[in-house]
Amino acid sequence: MNLGPPIALPERTSRWRWLWVLPRVAFVLFVGGVGLLLWMSDQADKEEKRATLTSDILWLEQNLRFHLARNEELLGRIDLAHTASAGAFESFARPLFGSESGLRQLIWLDADGQVRRAHPATMNPDVASETLELSPSRQSFRLARSLGKPVYSAAYPFFTDDWQFEVHVPVSREGRVIGVAVGVYRIREILGDSVPWWLAERYRISIVGDSGKVLGTRSKIESAVTEEGYQVAFDPPGWGLSIHAVPYHAPRPLASVLLSASLVILALIVLWSLWILRRHVLRRQAVEEQLQREHAFRKAMEDSLDTGMRARNLDGEIIYVNPAFCRMVGWSAAELIGRRPPMPYWADDYLDETRTIHDRVLAGDGPEEGFELKFKRRSGEAIDVLIHEAPLIDAHGRHSGWMGSMVDITERKQAEERARQQQDRLQSTARLVAVGEMASSIAHELNQPLAAISSYCTAAANLLRNQTPAADVLPALDKAVEQARRAGQVIRRIYSLARPSESRFERVDLGERVTAALALMESDIRQKGIRISLDISQKAVVDGDPVLLEQALFNILRNAVESMRETAPEQRQVIVTLGRVESYALLTIADRGCGIDGSVAEKLFDPLFTTKPEGMGMGLAICRSVMENHRGRLSFEANPGGGTVFRILLPLSPQ
Ligand code: ADP
Repeated sequence: MNLGPPIALPERTSRWRWLWVLPRVAFVLFVGGVGLLLWMSDQADKEEKRATLTSDILWLEQNLRFHLARNEELLGRIDLAHTASAGAFESFARPLFGSESGLRQLIWLDADGQVRRAHPATMNPDVASETLELSPSRQSFRLARSLGKPVYSAAYPFFTDDWQFEVHVPVSREGRVIGVAVGVYRIREILGDSVPWWLAERYRISIVGDSGKVLGTRSKIESAVTEEGYQVAFDPPGWGLSIHAVPYHAPRPLASVLLSASLVILALIVLWSLWILRRHVLRRQAVEEQLQREHAFRKAMEDSLDTGMRARNLDGEIIYVNPAFCRMVGWSAAELIGRRPPMPYWADDYLDETRTIHDRVLAGDGPEEGFELKFKRRSGEAIDVLIHEAPLIDAHGRHSGWMGSMVDITERKQAEERARQQQDRLQSTARLVAVGEMASSIAHELNQPLAAISSYCTAAANLLRNQTPAADVLPALDKAVEQARRAGQVIRRIYSLARPSESRFERVDLGERVTAALALMESDIRQKGIRISLDISQKAVVDGDPVLLEQALFNILRNAVESMRETAPEQRQVIVTLGRVESYALLTIADRGCGIDGSVAEKLFDPLFTTKPEGMGMGLAICRSVMENHRGRLSFEANPGGGTVFRILLPLSPQ
């Protein structure tokens, strides 16, 4: 409950700004790292592919060279015997065209370069033996013969869609060139023979001429190729021929795709959660600031209050006090918070009362209209406070304790007390004056019962003298006793008028006082046949002087009884009702008597005003003064059914 000092806003804002830099940097680093990882993995992949491509192509080139070199050697083994007849030549040539050799035709040139044998005779399936049409490269022939080493010709087109080249292998016997064996290679066939299937699966392999023209290709037509490829020359013997391989576009492995996708998704999730978090934090921050403003406003308001505020939880423990409360009682908030009853500021003389009201409040039964209590300051000085308690409801709508507002009414109480004493003194003076003035009336009033006593006693004495039985004398003596009691009452009333009213107030049960007052006039009531209807079931306790209150009640009840002298006996009824109105006790005394007309009503409370021959006219004046002394009120009104209703309002005593 003690909310403490507010935190300075600028500090908080800058702290938040710094806090935000961290996740942002972390996110950028994360995304950068993921990107770098993907790029590096891609690069490594490419590098590996490239290395494989290079080694595959080098292997292919080696393979081709090996075949060409082997063919050269085989061609060099030709002998004149092999060229002697077409059959011998064919049987020499046929094994050379075996698989993977790449050779498609063998031509035998004599030492002058004339075509002597050719197998097959033509490459054109439509033309039969057209040996003379063959025209192997003269240049290569001459070069081979002069060098004595195999020489390759440049590639030249074969029909429209293929290319071929020749190898001229000079054949010498006994140091003399006897002819040149020409092997004809067709590029498409070489590719078909020497490129294994697994290589063809991976790359589009072409043989490219020196001008960059593609002379033949082995490819899977349906697959797309990547841009870059690898080219390796196999020159010599190829006259500028190169092998060019371009890898087919292989789909990325599923694991790599999944990895990349999950990394991207992860980055997006992180970004999204950061964004959500930021929004949440910003919203929270706004609420916090709002709360802080409200807190500051409330605190300023509470600090400026003159009313003490004190909150207690359901166990009665203090959970909050405001500065005004601390000023009032003299204990600091730190000393009070956490305290349980009895509190240090409870007045020692009123511990029980304070505990009772405290328990009532905690039980939810505290007086809604507030209550007055006596507290003490730390210095020991007593203070009067007016307290209002209200339930404390927490943020979840639960009843979590009680909030009490406390007003210091010590000065007001003291002023009231001074005014009351002043009033008492004035009334006392007025009463003394009145007593003097009414001395004769008193004498008259006392005279009546004394005369009656005297006559009753005389009668009793006479009766006894005449030997009358004691039982017959008793009624006269009873009446004498009653008259003596009445005289005593008169004297008591006079005494109370003259007595200085340093009356000691105590807790007075009004119901009990009514009963006592009625008991005093019981015989009178019985004698006059008056019915008393008494409803004092509701308990009403007031602070007051029991004797004075009883006398006042007695006077009002006696007036009610006396007002019904002329009333028909069956209608003679006094209704006495005791109840509570807010913090007051309300006593009504309703009679069916003569009522009070306008002229009488005006002077009713004037001292010495009476309409009765034997009356003193002091009763009501004193009654009103007694009620006012008790911070109460006496009023009257006409009873709708005839007669008068007197109302007495007296403040109820605090519990
Ligand atoms: P006292 O009873 O000695 O006359 P009070 O001051 O008690 O003096 O009463 C003043 C007058 O008020 C009475 O004389 C009477 O006329 C009138 N009075 C008081 N109470 C009643 C009542 N209940 N009904 C009618 N008149 C009343």
